[in-house]
Amino acid sequence: MFKKILVANRGEIALRVIRAAREMGIASVAVHSTADADAMHVRMADEAVCIGPPPGTDSYLSMPAIISACEITGAEAIHPGYGFLSENANFVQIVEDHDLKFIGPTAEHIRVMGDKITAKETMKKLDVPCVPGSDGGVPDLDAAYEVGDAIGYPVIIKATAGGGGRGMKLAKSRDEMADAFRTARSEGKSVFGNDEVYIEKYLGTPRHIEIQVFGDGKGNAVHLGERDCSLQRRHQKVFEEAPGPTIDAETRAQIGKVCSDAVASINYAGAGTIEFLYENGEFYFIEMNTRLQVEHPVTEAVFGVDLVREQIRVAAGYEMSFRQEDLQVNGHAIEVRINAEKLPDFRPCPGKITQYHAPGGLGVRMDSALYDGYSIPPYYDSLIAKLIVHGPDRPAALARLDRALGELIVDGIDTTTPLFAALLAEKAVQTGDYNIHWLEHWLDAQN
Ligand code: ADP
Repeated sequence: MFKKILVANRGEIALRVIRAAREMGIASVAVHSTADADAMHVRMADEAVCIGPPPGTDSYLSMPAIISACEITGAEAIHPGYGFLSENANFVQIVEDHDLKFIGPTAEHIRVMGDKITAKETMKKLDVPCVPGSDGGVPDLDAAYEVGDAIGYPVIIKATAGGGGRGMKLAKSRDEMADAFRTARSEGKSVFGNDEVYIEKYLGTPRHIEIQVFGDGKGNAVHLGERDCSLQRRHQKVFEEAPGPTIDAETRAQIGKVCSDAVASINYAGAGTIEFLYENGEFYFIEMNTRLQVEHPVTEAVFGVDLVREQIRVAAGYEMSFRQEDLQVNGHAIEVRINAEKLPDFRPCPGKITQYHAPGGLGVRMDSALYDGYSIPPYYDSLIAKLIVHGPDRPAALARLDRALGELIVDGIDTTTPLFAALLAEKAVQTGDYNIHWLEHWLDAQN
């Protein structure tokens, strides 16, 4: 097993990895920008190295600085967390060229899945059901019209390099195609440096259902059921749960097996998530994320596993510690993402925390890097805490979430906590009867 690993991230996910390492007897190295000198991950790690000035591009994304930090401290492996360098195939290559271990899949798998067109082609070949659409990239407007006429409107034009909900444009009818096509292309170019786009049928009322998979890199893989992440704002998840309120055991086993077979056959290593839209009982693949997801704790809660520990074990060459038949869903878990943002417009709201009290008690997990007196810097993601609750069933988990939200104190800044209290009062949230558009409509109706 590794003796020392470096965590190339910050905030709650850096803590998550440091905690797993400590429980495994592995020393941890934190890296940080000058803006994060007082951050919790720096305090909690065994060692810390300053890797640059505040902007992410000069620190948490600086490959030479991170590799140097490994060399200085003698760390043998790098855990990338999520975001930053977690899905950067070039980085993985550089890590390996320095005889270090990347805790995650191979550069090749990251590259294939990071390009949505090659990801979709690969999944199609592996018998994973996909959204009907263009056969690969669409080079020009004439070709776009052809695809639109063939599959029928509405369609969505997507940048192959897109992510975080950006680079996607809806064309409700033929009239909207020219504008949508050009905008998706230019957004792809300006934000992701790649103007290649493809076209998909736009699904009107789907849920977002994603399957957690895990492979050992040697042809063995399991699935850990689904997460329903249908409550989204601007294509970003805000409330996630496992199991999905509309997925029964048979459906879970079926789609789970399709996914675990697919990743087993490519010798996938580590944690991955295969994302689907789910409508009228059918699954449609949209993308695969080759990293640990923000919402992984709900899966950990219902399956009783430690996904980060498992990632580290597999990266070190150990076998997976669970088999498919060991993995049974137990109860229901919900996560809410608490952001430093001011409602109703979700404006980022960094600043000093004057008082912080985390909820606790049975079935409550708070993943956060906050502390009393901490100043949230303005340079990074606004996610400051994930509140995860676990109960015997969905109504119990909802009641526990309500109780835990009532205990949470974050004074000094505005957060999105009041949103969740309001959502819990909604019948649709109580019954789980919504699709990916429900939250946007609800928010519009509030303002
Ligand atoms: P990103 O990589 O930017 O997250 P995804 O392809 O995962 O993009 O899509 C993000 C979200 O966009 C989905 O969860 C869904 O809400 C919406 N979406 C994507 N593709 C479609 C589609 N074909 N029809 C309807 N909505 C879609």
